Amino acid sequence: MAERPYIVGNWKMNGTRAMLSEARAIDRAAQRYMKAEVAVAPPYTLIHAVHREAEQIGVGAQDCFPGEDGAHTGDISANMLADAGAKFVILGHSERRMDHRETNKLINAKIESALEAGLRIILCCGESLEKRDAGEAEDFVLKQLAASLPKIEDAAERLTVAYEPIWAIGTGRTATTKDIAAMHKAIRGLLDEAYGEETSAEVRILYGGSVKPENAREILSTPEVGGALVGGASLSAESFLGIVVAASESEDA
Ligand code: PEP
Repeated sequence: MAERPYIVGNWKMNGTRAMLSEARAIDRAAQRYMKAEVAVAPPYTLIHAVHREAEQIGVGAQDCFPGEDGAHTGDISANMLADAGAKFVILGHSERRMDHRETNKLINAKIESALEAGLRIILCCGESLEKRDAGEAEDFVLKQLAASLPKIEDAAERLTVAYEPIWAIGTGRTATTKDIAAMHKAIRGLLDEAYGEETSAEVRILYGGSVKPENAREILSTPEVGGALVGGASLSAESFLGIVVAASESEDA
């Protein structure tokens, strides 16, 4: 990892106010591991409270509406997220692509709204097991990304990409470091083409899919892995911090 590793916890639809003690513990401990940049994305209902707790860690959201404030019952705009204290938003997560049939076009519109509201973006991509077994993983992921990458000038400065093979999310299975390195290299090639090499180098590519304290060190020292997007293991401060420690102790960090 050449740049400061970015370790992001995605709490998904987990967490009531009782979870604030975990956020506090993560925040206090993260101050000792400054070599890593640490952030969490709690559910909407906790963003403001986690933001108030957090002195060190970044706070973000897991989705936003693709447009401005207005008559959209039940939706949350990027402006509202920024007002609640969010600094970034995760977009294009495979659970949203599947559960809510989100398309690359919709995700691109969400990205543009979020950038306009001043948020940073974590754009997720990843293939199904079917695509991987058919030898189509790289082609699929690059097409997915090419169709949703923001075209706005300066967007790359606020962009992070997260490669998350769907079959590795919440399953306990992780991709091999060889497969991760190959996919991250391919993604870097696409970013180089889209933004030019110098700007592309600013975009971190995270890996996500059953990252835990036990496998974090190996994954985080894989070429082109700039950090991790962590689901299950981010729900307890102890396991999440195990990953943060691995990131901050990693040789290149
Ligand atoms: C995720 O959903 O972003 C994720 C990586 O989940 P898990 O770590 O639980 O596989």
